[in-house]
Amino acid sequence: MDCIFCKIAQGDSGATKVMENDNIVAFYDVNPKARVHILIVPKKHIESIKNLEDADAELVGEMFMAAKKIAEDQNLEGYKLVINVGRDGGQLVDHLHLHLLSSDVSGI
Ligand code: 5GP
Ligand code: ZN
Repeated sequence: MDCIFCKIAQGDSGATKVMENDNIVAFYDVNPKARVHILIVPKKHIESIKNLEDADAELVGEMFMAAKKIAEDQNLEGYKLVINVGRDGGQLVDHLHLHLLSSDVSGI
């Protein structure tokens, strides 16, 4: 499968990682839309929110808890969390991801 976020998760493609555990990887967006722009990505390939199954509920919770932890670690005063869903929702990469944006957010 030719998925850029799977490749990053598996270490087969470069990205500046912020955190990683068994289930999740977080890395800086290559084309940042804010002063801080980090993507929080499950290692499991799930195309989008549309493809979530009941068994994924805990994983989605982990994504948000990772965002909270990263924001704390980076001393972010405030931030925006965004998930784009489908082309009409602005999703361009078909592997579920949570955007963490802080300061001067534009175009997300
Ligand atoms: P979407 O529009 O799907 O919600 O967001 C996809 C995001 O992934 C965009 O902000 C884009 O800049 C970022 N992105 C796309 N390809 C790469 C890549 O190869 N590496 C990194 N670090 N970010 C990427
Ligand atoms: Zn993938």
